[in-house]
Amino acid sequence: MEKKDIKSLTLAELQEELSGLGEKPFRAKQCYEWMHKKLARSFEEMTNLSKDFREKCGNTYHYTALQMVDCQESKLDGTRKFLFQLADGNMVESVWMRYKHGNSVCISSQVGCRMGCKFCASTLDGLERNLTASEMLDQIYDITLATGERVSNVVVMGTGEPLDNYDNLLRFIRLLSDENGLHISQRNITISTCGIVPKMYELAGERLQITLALSLHAATDEKRQQLMPIANRYSIAELMEACDHYFKKTGRRITFEYSLVGGVNDSDQDAEALSHLAGSLCCHINLIPVNPIKEREFVQSEGTRIASFKNKLEKNKINVTIRREMGRDIDGACGQLRRRYLNAHKETDCVKNVFHN
Ligand code: SAH
Repeated sequence: MEKKDIKSLTLAELQEELSGLGEKPFRAKQCYEWMHKKLARSFEEMTNLSKDFREKCGNTYHYTALQMVDCQESKLDGTRKFLFQLADGNMVESVWMRYKHGNSVCISSQVGCRMGCKFCASTLDGLERNLTASEMLDQIYDITLATGERVSNVVVMGTGEPLDNYDNLLRFIRLLSDENGLHISQRNITISTCGIVPKMYELAGERLQITLALSLHAATDEKRQQLMPIANRYSIAELMEACDHYFKKTGRRITFEYSLVGGVNDSDQDAEALSHLAGSLCCHINLIPVNPIKEREFVQSEGTRIASFKNKLEKNKINVTIRREMGRDIDGACGQLRRRYLNAHKETDCVKNVFHN
């Protein structure tokens, strides 16, 4: 039988589990704090727990641990990009950014992605598997250990579609914001989705204080369908209704992400159409100059175009910012570091095979 993943259990679940093994409730609390507060990387590190107990845990439970394969640091702004190997050999990437208001980590929620957005490097090879809650937490825990600094903001904007891995995501949010763990405020956690409408409604009902970001990228169905396959499934009208519901239910303002792609969605008419959509909702727009990937022809909008797009929105009284580009010099776009690594690895394997033949 497969061992249970102990780091994905809530404190209440862990208490129940360990009492089944004949342990007192305070043991569970100690063990939980070792995992989620002191960020132990194995049972062996839990030094105030008896050797017997640690051995029993090791025999009964699986303890996730990532291996850092690569870490690149930007010379421009200190942003660090990490490549981690999971226990089954799969790779995920995460990014650490330092802002005036604290350190922010961008994590992956899946190995690969099946959403197929045209400009995104993470989805080119499809979905490999979901990450467990513990594997999402581990990215933050290992980065905290590597930098020696507290993480205050978490964005789920790396590889993967978080709402396509809903149950693990919810578990992750609850563990991350738990007062017995890192206790990161839910207000400092942002989940970015390409817009899986039924899951947005479900999320609205979870009584969470997180920020929801919607990857909009176009203001008409026709244009959105050219960029994002999910747009064939849900219309913009349905999305706006879901956003309105989310705001009314949670009181949390929605963020719209809009990647500006040169000649595709960056005209003055596009800005007008976007103003019209955004004007009816309590939202904030984040403009992201598209990060070109070599597998696709998309180019970034000219600087003057970006400025004029933003002006148009501001004239229409829309709340808008341009996302500062962090770590441009270190495989900036989502999924690029992992892809480069996997491709290089494939080549090495080929070389090895040739060698062996
Ligand atoms: N699947 C989720 C989260 C991951 S992507 C989502 O779709 O929101 C995080 C954000 O980066 C999304 O807004 C996505 O559309 C955007 N993105 C992906 N690749 C990009 C690129 N090459 N340039 C600019 N933005 C990109």
